[in-house]
Amino acid sequence: MTDLTRLSAAEIAGLVAGGETSAVEVTQAHLDRIAAVDDRVNAFLYVDTEGALAAARGVDERRAAGEDLGPLAGVPVAVKDVLTTKGVPTTVGSKILEGWRPPYDSTVVERLRAAGTVMLGKTNMDEFAMGSSTEYSAYGPTRNPWNLDRIPGGSGGGSAAALAAYEAPLSIGSDTGGSIRQPGAVTGTVGAKPTYGGTSRYGLVAFSSSLDTPGPCARTVLDAALLHQVIAGHDPRDSTSIPAPVPDVVGAARLGATGDLTGMKLGVITEFTGEGAEPGVMAAFRESVEALAKLGAEIVELSCPHFRYALPAYYLIAPSECSSNLARFDGVRFGLRVGDDGNRSLEEVMSLTREAGFGPEVKRRIMIGTYALSSGYYDAYYGQAQKVRTLITRDFTAAFEQVDALISPTTPFVAFPIGARTADPYQMYLADLFTIPTNLYGGPAISVPCGLSEGLPVGLQVMAPTMADDRMYRVAAALESTVGSFTPPAL
Ligand code: GLN
Repeated sequence: MTDLTRLSAAEIAGLVAGGETSAVEVTQAHLDRIAAVDDRVNAFLYVDTEGALAAARGVDERRAAGEDLGPLAGVPVAVKDVLTTKGVPTTVGSKILEGWRPPYDSTVVERLRAAGTVMLGKTNMDEFAMGSSTEYSAYGPTRNPWNLDRIPGGSGGGSAAALAAYEAPLSIGSDTGGSIRQPGAVTGTVGAKPTYGGTSRYGLVAFSSSLDTPGPCARTVLDAALLHQVIAGHDPRDSTSIPAPVPDVVGAARLGATGDLTGMKLGVITEFTGEGAEPGVMAAFRESVEALAKLGAEIVELSCPHFRYALPAYYLIAPSECSSNLARFDGVRFGLRVGDDGNRSLEEVMSLTREAGFGPEVKRRIMIGTYALSSGYYDAYYGQAQKVRTLITRDFTAAFEQVDALISPTTPFVAFPIGARTADPYQMYLADLFTIPTNLYGGPAISVPCGLSEGLPVGLQVMAPTMADDRMYRVAAALESTVGSFTPPAL
């Protein structure tokens, strides 16, 4: 019998639509897999067994009634715990929201449900999506299915590990500085950050509102595109949502899979060709560049001189926005409340709640952000960082006058051992060296597996102009068609 957990989302949807299996069978197979391996992986913070089976039954009934099902109907999906889910716990990996059951669905989740996908549960993440290893989760680290002593990336390590451990064929992440792409790279899976505003932030617990972007994670490029198509598109409830049609990402993924990139110009950024990156990562990247050239792409080297300032600019902008966004966690409106014994003032209760509810990295960011925004320092820090952001956007605009897309390694290093970088925040921040410029610009970018180094997966990043999300899928699918996919050792 076929192991349903090993199939792609496209394959599962085909079997369900053709009546060769049922959504309930598929869902049960994944719930069984979660029960068998998640005590070791810790990808899930919450498994919604009953909700998932009920949704699956609904799909099977609609199919039996002859209804036309969407392209992902009956396919299980795991959702990063940063997105609100009606009646289902949403913690953002933080103690401060422990026990909170949101009264509404985020737009992304609403669209997942409308498409007939089956939500399995909520995945582990760095607290408030701040981190690169999922070690900053208040609920313990997630482990990388390739090697359980290694990190699965972050902040969306749970969503990526769930795919690599065959606990789910699809998952949702959010990318503020790399949190979809970096976990994708280090777990050998595909992760795409759509154009900012291409997917709705309604119901996405805010970290840095000008950067946050929900997006698809999958084991194949086509599956990521199918999921992208389902969740993307204009949402009047998000003021920064783009009122334009979703680029044809599915068509582009299918076109790319033919393995022909004739006529495409791809730019290799000279600033990203070695410094700070592991030699094994660079070797896998260079081999992939050659593979892309063999598929007909023209490779051009070009300079993006301001990319080197992306990391410091990001670590002023993101903490500044978070210091403002996280002010809402006051012990009154949501989740945790500490010290409310009838004798303490409101301020004391707020302060005790925030002291107990936030972890050290979140507190560090709130302090940095509050400082950067304070009246005497605003121009020197936040103002400067915004100027750098403009320069980085200009680098992208100039590059896209010369090439169709930019390529780089997704991360400077493969999955590192758990505990290796927690002592020094700067070492942790370096994980996003190559992913952050895209967030500051707002364009789309995808990470696709491109090889192995030291037996661990390496990802290649494709960055495209804003609203040209289809282009990155084409290049990623073409690369996938020649390098194939990478399977972790059995758990
Ligand atoms: N690792 C980066 C950070 O810690 C990015 C996180 C993200 O994309 N959510 O902020």
